[in-house]
Amino acid sequence: MFTKILIANRGEIAMRIMRACQELGVKTVAVYSDADQNALHVQFADEAVHLGASAPKESYLNRDKLIQAALHSGAEAIHPGYGFLSENAAFAAAVESAKLKFIGPSADSIRAMGDKAESKILMKKAGVPTVPGFEGLETEAEFKQAAQEIGYPVLIKASAGGGGKGMRVVSQESELQDALELARGEALNSFGDERLLIEKYIAAAHHVEFQVFGDEQGNLIHLFERECSVQRRHQKIIEETPSPVLTSELREQMGAAAVQAAKAVNYFNAGTIEFIFDPSSAQYYFLEMNTRLQVEHPVTELVAGIDLAQWQIRVAAGEKFPFQQKDFMQRGHAIECRVYAEDPASGFLPSTGKLLQFIEPHGPGVRVDSGFAKGKTVTHFYDPLLAKLIVHAENRETAIQKMQNALKNFIVHGVVTNVDFMQAVLAHPDFASGQVTTRWVETVLAVADLAVEKNKPTPEQLISAALAEATLANSSIAAVERRNESDPYSPWRQTNGFRN
Ligand code: ADP
Repeated sequence: MFTKILIANRGEIAMRIMRACQELGVKTVAVYSDADQNALHVQFADEAVHLGASAPKESYLNRDKLIQAALHSGAEAIHPGYGFLSENAAFAAAVESAKLKFIGPSADSIRAMGDKAESKILMKKAGVPTVPGFEGLETEAEFKQAAQEIGYPVLIKASAGGGGKGMRVVSQESELQDALELARGEALNSFGDERLLIEKYIAAAHHVEFQVFGDEQGNLIHLFERECSVQRRHQKIIEETPSPVLTSELREQMGAAAVQAAKAVNYFNAGTIEFIFDPSSAQYYFLEMNTRLQVEHPVTELVAGIDLAQWQIRVAAGEKFPFQQKDFMQRGHAIECRVYAEDPASGFLPSTGKLLQFIEPHGPGVRVDSGFAKGKTVTHFYDPLLAKLIVHAENRETAIQKMQNALKNFIVHGVVTNVDFMQAVLAHPDFASGQVTTRWVETVLAVADLAVEKNKPTPEQLISAALAEATLANSSIAAVERRNESDPYSPWRQTNGFRN
């Protein structure tokens, strides 16, 4: 086992990995930028190394600084977390060249799955179902021809894409030219690569993904699915397992396809095979592979009964993964809500500021993976994920109830959060019946109305605010009077709240 690991990340994921290290008796090295000097992950670590300015390219995305920090601190391995450099094949290779261990898959696996077009070609060869479509097209005429063959609506995606960027739905031929230009521009801007692919757009789709896990000796299994259809701007907000739309037969088929997909790139460590699932035809198609630990891994941990972060470290240290597929079953139901500092009423724009209050809910079956605490500041430099709230219960219905209660007890002041928005999702009959598709938030939930209503202060809040104002005004008058008192030892000068 390693004695010391550097965590090349921040926020809740850095905290999550460090907790796993602690439980394994491994020392931790945190890294931080200017904006994160007082961040929770820095305080939690055994050691911390300052990387540089707040902009990610000066800090969390700076490969050389990260590798130097690991070497100088005597760490033997680097855990990349998710985001930042976690799916960067060149970083994984550079870490290994520096004689450090990269806690994740091989650079070759990352590279093979890093490109949407190329991974799709690879999957077709491996016999894994992919969305009908074409890769490698260039001219508008070629795209037009392809779209006709596939049938509208079609989806245009950046080959190098990620995070929902460079994606355009085209419902008819007259929209194709504009969509191609926009997607190309966005792809070039975000990824420096303008290649696009075109595929069938599955209008009422579910996002169902499978966790895979393997050791470096070739043992690889899946740990069931996660349903991630509650999304805004193609980005997940709520995830759960088991999926309410899968039959056990489908689960078995898709699980086997996920293992097949991962084995096609000699995969080891934690990874996720994403499928798009069309409930009208019960067809599933490979979307992409995420070659890292996912944000939503806790729901799998709770239902499959495994600590994925710890096992990532153990297999990277050379340990064999001692379990077979038959050793795992799904127990109960888990849901995760991503608590973001963002405002659903203004298009989910991030909200920044100091956290004046931050109280996490507690209780049996309630887990909070958090990167913040009261007094910490949410800046505009990084993803505004405050915490992940995860619940585990015996079935879906009780898990929903538990989540509603936990959200009610999650108190955040100082920034706007999406907590009320998630309550509205959980309380909706479509969510209860498991009917939510990937476009449901945009098309069904009237987000704006909902948020305006929720943001209106209640009479109780107005009265409390008025009382607080008045009390503060009074106490500042009293403070002035106290300061005017001539005796410096007068008890009336004390402002520490002592009362006889
Ligand atoms: P990214 O890597 O940018 O996140 P993905 O390929 O993983 O892109 O897709 C993100 C989301 O976009 C999916 O979860 C799904 O909601 C939607 N999506 C992707 N491909 C399709 C498709 N062919 N039809 C319908 N929706 C799709």
